[in-house]
Amino acid sequence: MAMVFCRGCAHQLHETAHTCPQCGAPQFAVPAKPQATGSQSSGLGITSLIIGIICLLTLFDDGAWDNESLTGMSMIGGLGLLLGIIGITQNRPANGLAIAGVVMASISLACFLGLFSQVNQL
Ligand SMILES: [Zn+2]
Repeated sequence: MAMVFCRGCAHQLHETAHTCPQCGAPQFAVPAKPQATGSQSSGLGITSLIIGIICLLTLFDDGAWDNESLTGMSMIGGLGLLLGIIGITQNRPANGLAIAGVVMASISLACFLGLFSQVNQL
């Protein structure tokens, strides 16, 4: 049970106290547990999510698919999947984003594979 000193009156208080019981000063510098927002690795989850969204949106494009564009989108989808998995294994606060990215990238990849077989049959 670590103690810290009030920023306003130097009264000793518990580190999880949001305000000082003595003078009521807010304790912004409290070394709180990591919040569920922002971290240097959350970028991975966000990137994975964005890639997953792009891949899914691309699937709704009714344009004709050819092997080259399918290969390109599969690579992008694979990258999103990879980034999402890395984000998850790093167990960062942005895990939800990474998981969503992995799910969307997986769905996209499955669809791309399906399109691949369609294109190659024609
Ligand atoms: Zn105080």
